[in-house]
Amino acid sequence: MTDTPAGELQPAFRSDVTVELVKHSASDADVLFAARVSTVGEQSLDELGKDPERSKGLINYLMRDRHGSPFEHNSMTFFISAPIFVFREFMRHRVGWSYNEESGRYRELQPVFYVPDESRKLVQEGRPGKYRFVAGTEAQQELVGRVMEESYAAAYDAYQKMLAEGVAREVARSVLPVGLYSSMYATCNARSLMHFLGLRTQHELAKVPSFPQREIEMVGEKMEAEWAKLMPLTYAAFNANGRVAP
Ligand SMILES: Cc1cc2nc3c(=O)[nH]c(=O)nc-3n(C[C@H](O)[C@H](O)[C@H](O)COP(=O)(O)OP(=O)(O)OC[C@H]3O[C@@H](n4cnc5c(N)ncnc54)[C@H](O)[C@@H]3O)c2cc1C
Repeated sequence: MTDTPAGELQPAFRSDVTVELVKHSASDADVLFAARVSTVGEQSLDELGKDPERSKGLINYLMRDRHGSPFEHNSMTFFISAPIFVFREFMRHRVGWSYNEESGRYRELQPVFYVPDESRKLVQEGRPGKYRFVAGTEAQQELVGRVMEESYAAAYDAYQKMLAEGVAREVARSVLPVGLYSSMYATCNARSLMHFLGLRTQHELAKVPSFPQREIEMVGEKMEAEWAKLMPLTYAAFNANGRVAP
């Protein structure tokens, strides 16, 4: 995004999504702590990590037999920047998630738009629920980039024209497309994240295959990488048990 001499904002185009883990209280010990109240009652946190093999075994058992609630006693907050169409899919995840997104009523939306890069397969084959994507031709790649950029620029120009004439932001934003970037905080726990990852990523270890849109999968992969560092035993058990949320 750049300023012209007249101060008008020019569109910027991106192909990525960003995910930052901004806050967390999440570890494998949180799972053990919650689970062992069933058999031992209250116990000191120091005791928890003393027998790593037992800890690993307990987490794997909870995952395998789908005892899910011990995986809820933790919290991760991500700051995510992605196109609006990704957030529309994301917010279908209702359980164990909290969201706060930037407002198109209270602030002027910035002209940052999504244009897929050459790694994004453009052509869809197959039937609903079982699509396969293949790379587009160079001509298709060029067309997608050019048409998207022109169309985004025209939409943002219309938005600015209305704002300049005093139209409210909440009215003027109607012309903006779902390829516009937005940002939000999303807070979850390991159980709700696993449910999300089971549906929104493709993985060779998944017992139940899913066919997510690539752009939400890109967000999922980044969240997964952060979570794997915080809760390695839980993460390993999730993969070992077919990536099905307990
Ligand atoms: C590949 C893919 C394609 C999709 N295509 C479409 C589409 O074409 N159209 C569309 O509208 N959506 C579509 N979705 C969204 C999908 O239907 C779900 O809304 C989304 O994946 C969130 O899943 P969820 O409801 O399990 O998650 P959450 O809302 O987080 O719920 C978690 C779990 O809680 C339980 N639960 C939550 N709410 C209820 C309830 N009201 N009653 C009973 N149990 C409940 C269920 O066990 C649920 O699995 C698609 C999702 C994927 C992954």
